[in-house]
Amino acid sequence: MAKKKVKNKKPSQKWKKYKTENNKIVSRGKTCPKCSSFLGTHKDRLHCGSCSYVEIISKK
Ligand SMILES: [Zn+2]
Repeated sequence: MAKKKVKNKKPSQKWKKYKTENNKIVSRGKTCPKCSSFLGTHKDRLHCGSCSYVEIISKK
């Protein structure tokens, strides 16, 4: 099986959650305290897809 060359490989999806301000990288997403992956945002909780960490969002 021949390997295909990948052109214009997309960068990590992680970078979509960052924005740059005055040459500083600002994180837009909350990260997992266990594995530092970005947490998926749900209606009432944050979920880490890597280690299944769940953080409940309490509304005040
Ligand atoms: Zn995690």
